[in-house]
Amino acid sequence: MTLSFDPDAIALPNGHFVGNGLVAAEGVIDMHRPSDGKAYAGCPLADADMVDRAVETAKQALKTSKWGQVRPRERTVALQRWADLIEAKAETLAKLEALSSTRPVGQLIAGDIAVTAEQIRFFAELADKEGDALVPTDGDSMGMIMSEPYGVVGAITPWNFPVSMAGWKLGPALAAGNAVVLKPSEMTPFSSVYLAQLAIEAGIPAGLINVVLGDGPTTGNAITGHPDIAKVSFTGSTGAGQAIMGNIARTGVKPMTLELGGKSPQLVFADADLDKAAAAIAQSIVSNAGQACVAGSRLIVERSVMEPLAEAIIARMKSVKPGPTWDAASSYSPIISARQRDRIDSIVKASIAAGAACLTGGDVMEGDGYFYTPTLLANVDQMSPAVSHEIFGPVLTMQAFDTEEEALALADHPTYGLCAGLFTRDLSRALRLTKALQAGTVWVNRYGRSRDHILPTGGYKQSGIGKDLGREAYHANRKSKSVLISL
Ligand code: NAD
Repeated sequence: MTLSFDPDAIALPNGHFVGNGLVAAEGVIDMHRPSDGKAYAGCPLADADMVDRAVETAKQALKTSKWGQVRPRERTVALQRWADLIEAKAETLAKLEALSSTRPVGQLIAGDIAVTAEQIRFFAELADKEGDALVPTDGDSMGMIMSEPYGVVGAITPWNFPVSMAGWKLGPALAAGNAVVLKPSEMTPFSSVYLAQLAIEAGIPAGLINVVLGDGPTTGNAITGHPDIAKVSFTGSTGAGQAIMGNIARTGVKPMTLELGGKSPQLVFADADLDKAAAAIAQSIVSNAGQACVAGSRLIVERSVMEPLAEAIIARMKSVKPGPTWDAASSYSPIISARQRDRIDSIVKASIAAGAACLTGGDVMEGDGYFYTPTLLANVDQMSPAVSHEIFGPVLTMQAFDTEEEALALADHPTYGLCAGLFTRDLSRALRLTKALQAGTVWVNRYGRSRDHILPTGGYKQSGIGKDLGREAYHANRKSKSVLISL
């Protein structure tokens, strides 16, 4: 069986998903396929009335299904059925995902989709295991911390890993007893609509997952400012996160989880296993063409090993296999849009004009689609645009250090603190620097997530507030009540 498919032969579930079915809507936002640039669909734009209808539907569904009050195991079992169905329908889901996004179809079934099903099961299992607490108090009293779901959660996701991001939001919110109104990116909406269709098929009560399509200023704003959305969970850029905080402040007060941008450093010491480091570093910037919040985009290397490490990384960068996302043999992704590709190119060119040396790449790839060559820039300082900006493309900068203090100073970004990588065989140094690095995640002698969903993910500084994954994500979807009873 090959997963390759004809991109013109895919039926799109194009419309909002409210209650138990698609609500047809006119496609008004032009959509282009990243792999060949062809216009192929229009994304509908939900206005405030459509968002209101979705929120009302979610509220009613919570009432009639009693989702937040049923025996928690019922939620576990329903979500497990959904995860099973996601795996059973992985091929259809993979094609919808690959068509619109930058994710190669050959990487989706065993990668993004399998992991998403696993993460939904992880949260499903928490539903009947994470409990409330009795707390110590005097003998004439009883103290408890009880928790309950928020009600309707508003979730907004980016285009770079659409299925995974939807799973990160829907899994914990539903397991914790809430309903969700989800807005996927206007560039990659269809896989999220299909996930909602599968949830109905799996027996999750209609109205608990609603998907409204549209952009940030219209649909996103209507969600974050809606008075009956009790909590907002957002993944996207730091700029949009700031806009969301502003809108929430203007329209009321509500809790929010914000997973935002990154500009993560990778520190390599001379005693590291250089082959292992080169493989991890190259993979982290080439994977999804660097369009990952966790991309390790700033290499900070001990001067004595700079040359051999750069050579090993360049060799890997040159071996990528670009190709349309619907070809199962492709492994190197296009950039999501012409605009984003041109932005990447302009930051690279501005950095070179400011003195950067381009050791490989630095060009738009010839041919169809929005591909960009994996790029390594040396001779840069903290002021270089390539070092200071989140590029969200396959661009790695390289800076040298002589002392541990210098390495730490270079690693510290004024805005971002999402992740950091550290390569050394010296255990004391590894532990010392792990403590010192200002990042929500530190990977030592590896770079990138494992399938240990118990480890939460989230940023320091302006990389975000709160966590996705782990127990933290489950608890972030419940509010707590302190109870003190006089006996
Ligand atoms: P984006 O901020 O442009 O858009 C993300 C989502 O927010 C989209 O659905 C968009 O329509 C919506 N949106 C935009 N403005 C909004 C507003 N004012 N109100 C409400 N919704 C709004 O980001 P993007 O280009 O889709 O994704 C790339 C960004 O996402 C990068 O900065 C990346 O680092 C970040 N990201 C972070 C994580 C993480 O876990 N920290 C994961 C993936 C992506």
